[in-house]
Amino acid sequence: MRRELLIVLFLLLITVGVASRERSMEYEHAEPGEFMERNSQSAPPFPVRAENASKFASAAGEGDSNCPPPTILIHDVTPYYSRELEAVVEVLDKYNYSSRTVLFVIPRFDPPYHGDRWDLRRNGDFVGYLHSLEKEGYRIELHGYEHTYHEFNCSYEVAMEKLKSATELMGKVGFENMSLFLPPAWALSNDSIRAIGEFNLTIVLPDYFIPPNGSKMRVWNREYTWYVGEGKAEERFLVAAHDYNATCREGIPFYLSIHPQVIVHGDGLKVLEKFLRWLKKE
Ligand SMILES: [Zn+2]
Repeated sequence: MRRELLIVLFLLLITVGVASRERSMEYEHAEPGEFMERNSQSAPPFPVRAENASKFASAAGEGDSNCPPPTILIHDVTPYYSRELEAVVEVLDKYNYSSRTVLFVIPRFDPPYHGDRWDLRRNGDFVGYLHSLEKEGYRIELHGYEHTYHEFNCSYEVAMEKLKSATELMGKVGFENMSLFLPPAWALSNDSIRAIGEFNLTIVLPDYFIPPNGSKMRVWNREYTWYVGEGKAEERFLVAAHDYNATCREGIPFYLSIHPQVIVHGDGLKVLEKFLRWLKKE
């Protein structure tokens, strides 16, 4: 009897351990909206959750033809996710979004796990692919250096060192003059914000951008394709359409964040297609 109790306790501990590990991983790659809800002191102006999407079906209505088209921000651009990126690019090309899409590149992805395997200098084919996308109009910008856990929540000195390594590496594979910086997992410190500014890069966050002069530019930057289940494309699309119309009315620029390795699951790509098709009809 006592032994059975011990086994039950042991299993319970394992379950709790796995659950908390999953939570921390989810946090690391939290979608922009979720991050803001958990971490921002001010609530987002249009907090629409997928569960409530049907309520906003009528609000989405027809797109407003006076609204500027959204800008699409692709996170985690690395040869490690090259096939997933190609799948997203296929959809974007179909709707002629190349000149409205920014590719946030990781210069060398996660060396603690992968060593030099995904260093751009060792992935000539992928670099060639990025150059061909750049010729098509896609913009190449910076997404950290190695994309390790909360990489830019660090001191000024460490941030300067990482930015120097990142921009030098990008320069070696032919990408110069970057102007945007998307911090991995949105993690920053006051010191790293200062360092990024000194590299003349504008920081991209869910609710605002921080230009090198340290001011704040209000934006709406959200992800609507975060693990979309099968059959859930319509309701997620409606949330995106609602937010797009609402931000347009407020005069806030709308940015659509996408993680290639996540959007390919379930109905993620369908949400993107629905949204782009809807925008085209305007
Ligand atoms: Zn990332």
